[in-house]
Amino acid sequence: MLDLTSAPAIFLQPHADDAALSCGGTVAAIAAAGRSSHIITLFAGEIVPQLVSSFAEWKHSRWNLTDPEEVIDIRRSEDAEAARTLGCSVRWLGLPDVIYRGDTVTSDDELFGPIDANGLALADHLVDELTSLPEWQPSATVFVPLAIGSHIDHQIVFETGVGLARRGHRVFAWEDAPYVIHTPEGLGQRLEQVRARLGPPELVGIEEQLERKLDAIRAYRTQVPVIFRFTDDFRAATREFARQTGGGVAAERFWPVL
Ligand SMILES: [Zn+2]
Repeated sequence: MLDLTSAPAIFLQPHADDAALSCGGTVAAIAAAGRSSHIITLFAGEIVPQLVSSFAEWKHSRWNLTDPEEVIDIRRSEDAEAARTLGCSVRWLGLPDVIYRGDTVTSDDELFGPIDANGLALADHLVDELTSLPEWQPSATVFVPLAIGSHIDHQIVFETGVGLARRGHRVFAWEDAPYVIHTPEGLGQRLEQVRARLGPPELVGIEEQLERKLDAIRAYRTQVPVIFRFTDDFRAATREFARQTGGGVAAERFWPVL
């Protein structure tokens, strides 16, 4: 298994909840080993009311939230509680979620479609912005989503990881949960698109951190009923997936970005 506990770590999550869901055990293990561990939520910016599309309003209704200002406050407080549970810090960058970037995206089909030149330009911009943050350490291991399920924001952050790897940083991509739990074939589909940029996968054992990871996921109260609508027991589904990944002992799998 991969030992990631000897270096500081930076987790680049597109949205509040992505890191806890996909690699919360690894976040907690690095913090427990006494290394600095930071989560940066990239698309957590202020919402401009005029840019809240009817598609975003539909998303809010599924989360039982109606006031856009309240959405940001609640999602940040959930994110802060999860970070405290995992033992790391969290910073929110000012970019809005793609569902709040005007009419960029008007349906779930577009939300999960290929990224365009604007998306790639945004990934380049993020490389510059991230490497100027006070948390940034050139020696840190950087974690990004593999973008299984192809959400646009996840693909943009994966491309940011590619840009950072090109600059010589050590970058790993996590398997996006719960997407990979309810749609396991999504991993193979995503690998077909990006296999050439990845090395062979590595496992990180998280058995000791598993319950802490589940407590961190529970902090995202507005999200859990929606993202885990395929199960009535998110803890059991997440535990079972982690033990299946590790062949009996809970683990999270990461793909080195070349
Ligand atoms: Zn996300």
